[in-house]
Amino acid sequence: TADISTISEKTLNSILEKNRTYYTQGKVADYIPELGKMDANAVAFSVVENNGKIVNVGDVHKKFTMQSISKIIALMIAVTEKGEANVFDKMGYFGTDRPFNHFSNLETTGKPLNPMMNAGAILTTSLISGEGEKPFLKILEMVRYITKDPTIDYSKSVYESEKSTGHRNRGMFYLMKNNGLISGNEDQLDNYFKQCSIELTTEDLAKIGYFFANQCVRFDGDATYKNPDIAKLVESQMLIAGMYEFSGEYARTVGLPSKSGVGGGITVSVPGKMGIGVFSPALDKHGNSLVGYRMILDLVKQYNLSVF
Ligand code: GLN
Repeated sequence: TADISTISEKTLNSILEKNRTYYTQGKVADYIPELGKMDANAVAFSVVENNGKIVNVGDVHKKFTMQSISKIIALMIAVTEKGEANVFDKMGYFGTDRPFNHFSNLETTGKPLNPMMNAGAILTTSLISGEGEKPFLKILEMVRYITKDPTIDYSKSVYESEKSTGHRNRGMFYLMKNNGLISGNEDQLDNYFKQCSIELTTEDLAKIGYFFANQCVRFDGDATYKNPDIAKLVESQMLIAGMYEFSGEYARTVGLPSKSGVGGGITVSVPGKMGIGVFSPALDKHGNSLVGYRMILDLVKQYNLSVF
């Protein structure tokens, strides 16, 4: 297998061109009406390597919402503030055979399965300290820090769209409030909708993947948040639940901690080596980017990147 330092625009372009038309087999998420407006054949592919080298191909300037990928940032902040034991006293480390918006265990043990599914993620965000919008702003600032892009912001229209149609998420929020896990008001749910609406590019996703792959050290070497233990925790959750009920099969075929979002993005951590970001909004039945998955799989095979 080839050395990763040989990954070039040519490498990524040939993988992208090989897979781009598969978007016709997927479907753009439209349960959040604003997301349904996305251009189904947009596609982008980025990697960030250890020396800080960045390679981008496709619609590299196209912004999309990070959606569930924001859950790994929220987890990092909640655990930093509250400690792992306090966070995981309220939710599990479990994998899942259920879709991301399933109510799993809220009616039985009362606790979410993990921080990667919506219920656990809504709870995680509620555990970040601060009134009103403050917890969301911490998530936004962390995304700006990791990507080194202070202009990153959230889409007000996607946020409004999520807020006005997110009845299932609201149901989970109140069930967890009923179970004594959530103590605040609906501002805390709004923070979850806002974090999901943060807009970025595949280069930004590759930088996020890189950050967790490298003990929370930024792509340019800045070690302000260096924390090997939190990186391990986040990567382990990405591995077992980052692709929801597809995570087991994904671990078998790709074998790398990854997190998808229904906006069509996937961020991938290649431990100690690099970060990968992909975008293509047509999703498979699990809510994962169909072309994105295929591109990751091809790169992983070509460079033997699986952790196994
Ligand atoms: N905002 C989306 C939701 O709550 C996030 C889900 C996802 O990306 N899988 O439904």
